[in-house]
Amino acid sequence: MTAQTVPGPQASTVPPVSPTPQAGSAPETGSAVEAGSAPEAGSAVEAGSALEAGSALPFAGPSLSPSRAADFKTCPLLFRFRTIDKLQEQPSADQVRGTLVHAVLERLFDLPAAERTPTAAAALVEPSWAALVEAEPGLADIFAAVDPPRLDPAALLAEADATGQGALVDVPAADETARLAAFLGSATALLDGYFAVEDPRRLEPAEREALISTTVDDTLLIRGYIDRLDVSPAGDLRVVDYKTGGAPREAFEGRALFQLKFYALVLWRTRGVVPRVLRLLYLKDAEVCDYSPDAEELERFERTLVALSEAIERAKREQDFRPKPSRLCGWCSHQALCPEFGGTPPPFPPDEPVGIDLTPADDDRLG
Ligand code: SF4
Repeated sequence: MTAQTVPGPQASTVPPVSPTPQAGSAPETGSAVEAGSAPEAGSAVEAGSALEAGSALPFAGPSLSPSRAADFKTCPLLFRFRTIDKLQEQPSADQVRGTLVHAVLERLFDLPAAERTPTAAAALVEPSWAALVEAEPGLADIFAAVDPPRLDPAALLAEADATGQGALVDVPAADETARLAAFLGSATALLDGYFAVEDPRRLEPAEREALISTTVDDTLLIRGYIDRLDVSPAGDLRVVDYKTGGAPREAFEGRALFQLKFYALVLWRTRGVVPRVLRLLYLKDAEVCDYSPDAEELERFERTLVALSEAIERAKREQDFRPKPSRLCGWCSHQALCPEFGGTPPPFPPDEPVGIDLTPADDDRLG
């Protein structure tokens, strides 16, 4: 896999991407790819129904998503806490803002191409936030009080950078309205970063927030949500992933690359086409990072996933998920239960949950 970081300008300047379909000139780009592909694989799933689709797949064997696989690689005990114990986590302001920005960018492409302007995107921020809170009222809890443990270091840095007004924690505790305004303002600032690297008026995505899945060797289900899939008139695939996090890039870039290879493998196996480009859009830094995978690399990656799944199943049988401390412990919600921090994990659940729950936000969590 080759990587190319492109600071700044337009996506269309990045080789070797085939010309991006012009809005209006190729309105049915998605259909060109879907024809002949496996019916369930890669088919667009609306964000609202995707949760059900993600949890209702009738595959009884092991399954992996990019986020769960990355959890196990990062720290087996973290994987256990999230996937087996299913411990609740209070999302950080940074994660919630990421969810909001993803929602806005998805809705932006519902507009006619010519109307996809920065002003239109900014106007979508408040209604998108209202829709998210209506669906999940707990999201608003991040503004309930000044509570530093809920606001991870990355979030605080991102607030300061994005708003230029200092972090949310500096806003008086009683002023929830001001905290919300600062939060929405920082989301709008990230959208400005998006417009610095792409012109959505020139794009007509084939799919957005789409659940894709396949089975490997008939034994392992792999699936995940891609933020966006572009298909050129020639049939070339470009997977696009928005990165909104304020965390240090080097801490998460490996996870992002792993995530993109995961999507590339699923698309290759289901559509018979190796994606031409895997694209990371870093909105905070207004940068584009492109990767061009090849089939041999994806074959190796597939073997890596099988080995990873076998390691997870072995750990389940032996009920042995060990902590693996790293700098990412600073973002872990479960330090109080972690032996590395003097804690004790809860008893291993007698009934292992079947499969994994999967939401678009899970994959967005990867940086
Ligand atoms: S604190 Fe660190 S070592 Fe402990 S579970 Fe979390 S990520 Fe793993």
